[in-house]
Amino acid sequence: MENDTTLPAFPFPAYGLTHEEWQTALKEVFGQPRFRADQIFKSLYKEAASGWEAFTTLPAPLRQTLAGQAPIEAMRIVEAIPSQDGTVKLLFACASDGERIESVLIPSKDRMTQCISTQAGCNFRCAFCASGRLGKTRDLTTAEIVAQVMEAVRFLSGREGTFTRPSNLVVMGMGEPFDNYDNVLKALKILNAQKGLDVGARHITISTCGVVPGIRRLAGEGLQFELSVSLHAPNQDLRKGLMPVSRRWPLEELIPACAEYTRATGRLVTFEYTLIRQINDQPRHADELIALLRALPCKVNLIPLSPVEGFAGRRPDNASCLAFLDRLMRAKIPTTMRNSRGGDVDAACGQLRLRRLATSSGEGGNTP
Ligand code: SAH
Repeated sequence: MENDTTLPAFPFPAYGLTHEEWQTALKEVFGQPRFRADQIFKSLYKEAASGWEAFTTLPAPLRQTLAGQAPIEAMRIVEAIPSQDGTVKLLFACASDGERIESVLIPSKDRMTQCISTQAGCNFRCAFCASGRLGKTRDLTTAEIVAQVMEAVRFLSGREGTFTRPSNLVVMGMGEPFDNYDNVLKALKILNAQKGLDVGARHITISTCGVVPGIRRLAGEGLQFELSVSLHAPNQDLRKGLMPVSRRWPLEELIPACAEYTRATGRLVTFEYTLIRQINDQPRHADELIALLRALPCKVNLIPLSPVEGFAGRRPDNASCLAFLDRLMRAKIPTTMRNSRGGDVDAACGQLRLRRLATSSGEGGNTP
């Protein structure tokens, strides 16, 4: 039954395999009983072991084999930059080719949220987003997506002196998750697995710029992940100008796809709306947004623009942001405003990597 999993060729990264794939690999590749998958998952995810010598429940010869065949390190933290507000920006290098990506830890009263990346760069080129400025270098592998979280677990556990993991994951770092659908979904299933790190599905949010086939595909998976859609404009004309993705999948296809997601999963979609002074923050924009979303059970999350180089738009003043929020609330649309965190460490989308790339040309690397 489980034998229908097609196994990758070894050596293969340890974080790239689901529990079922480990069972099959142990039996068919390593000639071991399948229950060792439980032992491996426990050490990998519940103890965050970083080397096979720590897997003391396994026989020594198997540990040695796996050390050669299933490397654990897929990502290395090259910099951890704390912000005054408690946010920590993690800059990663991929073990295979040194590609730089980033992730952010965002503590709040009762949670520790980690924002993770899915691609090095991004091809979608939203006007206000730093991640897309340089295009996409490559997709991250499943193991690289999982490793961002496991390196963060080691970072947090080292800091706290006891095993500590992010309670919530948001897929809102660099890249478009639905442009790397298979690797992202597999990574999230691995991080969600009860025998592993066990981050609850409802504590995992996938954010898309509006890749309609991805939304429809996720709707059919029978999973409970939260879906966020980066909307940023209340009409097609304005959205086309800010987000080229809207030319391919216009609002008139995007909104019905969101409705289908809600129908299929019973989960509300959250619309992200970056407020840009004069461009999309006026009362008439709020009214258009209300009309657009009227028939759809949803939430709205407002994000005052983080200024980025190369985009002339500006952040609205607080009063306009609050007025926009108020107008939506009066129309009975549940709305929150994200107070920008980590501004002093360039924690907004892709900013750190962009700055490093801009300042590191000609140097050997970024390690401080
Ligand atoms: N590609 C996915 C996930 C990454 S972006 C998506 O588009 O949803 C994460 C969120 O940050 C998106 O809502 C994005 O539009 C927003 N964002 C990007 N640059 C921003 C900026 N300069 N200020 C405020 N929000 C920004």
